[in-house]
Amino acid sequence: MMEENCIFCKIIRGEIPSQKVYEDEWVYAFRDINPAAPTHILIVPKEHLASANALEEKHEALVGHILVCARKIAEEQGFAEYGYRIVNNCGENAGQTVFHLHFHVLSGAKFDRMV
Ligand code: AMP
Ligand code: ZN
Repeated sequence: MMEENCIFCKIIRGEIPSQKVYEDEWVYAFRDINPAAPTHILIVPKEHLASANALEEKHEALVGHILVCARKIAEEQGFAEYGYRIVNNCGENAGQTVFHLHFHVLSGAKFDRMV
């Protein structure tokens, strides 16, 4: 289901331009407009889910698929060997600003440990 005013739903529908790096039946991936690393890609499910808090058992395959997509994108874009960080911010206190579930894939820099 799509949300009328969600910025990522608009990107998926092509109503807002984006730099697409990957698309399939379940997901859309594009470059972050305000990159936090030399490579910064967002992977979003085509289904509108507000955050990780909306995930249910029926989404298990989708979430697994997103992680496999991250690996495929890393290989296709040539940064799999370099290494990358996959991040999901859930809720305002974790830094979430767009309330359509997304996974950041960051590479091209040596990151400090967060955890
Ligand atoms: P978060 O803060 O985890 O919710 O991440 C939202 C991300 O979406 C931020 O890194 C923004 O830079 C990115 N973003 C917002 N609008 C756009 C857009 N139109 N195209 C690409 N990335 C966007
Ligand atoms: Zn949405």
